Amino acid sequence: MLTPDEALGRILAQITPMEAEQAPLLAALGRVLQQAQQARFALPPWDNSAMDGYAVRAAELPGTLPISGVMAAGVSPDAELAVGTCMKIMTGAPVPRGADSVVMRENVDESSSSVATFAEAAQFGRHIRRAGEDVSADSELLPAGSLLGPGELAILAAQGIAQIPVCKKPRVAILSTGDELVPLGAEPTSAQIISSNSTTLAAQVQQAGGIAIDAGIVPDTLEATVRALRSLSDYDVLLTSGGVSVGDFDYVKEAYESIGVSMGFWKVAVKPGKPLAFGTRSIPGSDRKQLVFGLPGNPASSLVSFELFVRPALRALLGSAPAQSPRITVTLAEDIEKGPGRTNFLRAKLTPSESGPVATMLHKQGSGMLRSMVSADCLVELDADTTHFAAGTKVLALPLRSAWQS
Ligand code: AMP
Ligand code: MG
Repeated sequence: MLTPDEALGRILAQITPMEAEQAPLLAALGRVLQQAQQARFALPPWDNSAMDGYAVRAAELPGTLPISGVMAAGVSPDAELAVGTCMKIMTGAPVPRGADSVVMRENVDESSSSVATFAEAAQFGRHIRRAGEDVSADSELLPAGSLLGPGELAILAAQGIAQIPVCKKPRVAILSTGDELVPLGAEPTSAQIISSNSTTLAAQVQQAGGIAIDAGIVPDTLEATVRALRSLSDYDVLLTSGGVSVGDFDYVKEAYESIGVSMGFWKVAVKPGKPLAFGTRSIPGSDRKQLVFGLPGNPASSLVSFELFVRPALRALLGSAPAQSPRITVTLAEDIEKGPGRTNFLRAKLTPSESGPVATMLHKQGSGMLRSMVSADCLVELDADTTHFAAGTKVLALPLRSAWQS
């Protein structure tokens, strides 16, 4: 059986990033810049004051100087400071020509409205933000491949760059399989359950930067499954949930094969989430290939499989360098026993400590259990061949959220 790393390697090898589009800045949040962006002008555009205070010639201090004007934010940078005078200046206002220092208001005797008294000598260049000290006119703002967070968008906005090239968002169809399933909003009969995976997977797709399309629920027959799969050939990615195991009514594998999906693998040595199918098929009228993931139906297995395999695939489609989901190092709060042969991913809560985050396993780790998905901060990764982990051992974990992010 493939290890999770081998399985991910096979998936990433099939991926070419989506084509680029020009997106407005906010729509590019969380995406990956496709072309380096150059500065259009210097920032700050002119020398300006870092303080509310007085623009002076340092050599003329200490002493009392007449106030010859006021530089407010937004006034023309062409003003000139007359010799032997000072000007009031506000934070962000251009420094008048001739001035070479700003004295903070707090250090000035302002008891008269026409003169200012400076008790101390002034330091040349003090409290002046120089033109171009932040961004020089011909510098590179961001290299291609930059992940676009609020800070990256800020520098682009400050440069008046309103549209940037990013990869198109992949459109991801989510198809749930199972005779027992009804959609959210319908009342289940005594024999039915609600398809929670449809919502979980859509949330994960959206969080990863894809566009989730709920393709509904198909019953457990080969014909219905094949028909649904055929109708979903246009999407960049197809996720099916359930029916991928060895039960009498698990038709997904057969359906994939009968519609010509080129299969990459069927099983991964991972717990939860062993039954996991991956393959590709061509998208009609396009030279791109659809990535097809047959995710297990058990809710925790589906969630873990997505984090391990689908999220990295979506990030690679969005133009990130191919990589596994990021890992952090955590300390186990308790002893853990596990069986040999499969890498385990246990849902855990994190508590900060001076020596880094401590992971406490959530109860009820069964692959069908939803409760331990609630409030899970991370998936603790336990090596396939090790069966005993002592409390205090440091292991890797895959974060499911940062402190402020859901
Ligand atoms: P399967 O992979 O189809 O054998 O399903 C394994 C388990 O997951 C069964 O208990 C199913 O009822 C459950 N399951 C399958 N699909 C979903 C879904 N979309 N939402 C919630 N549970 C599901
Ligand atoms: Mg099923």
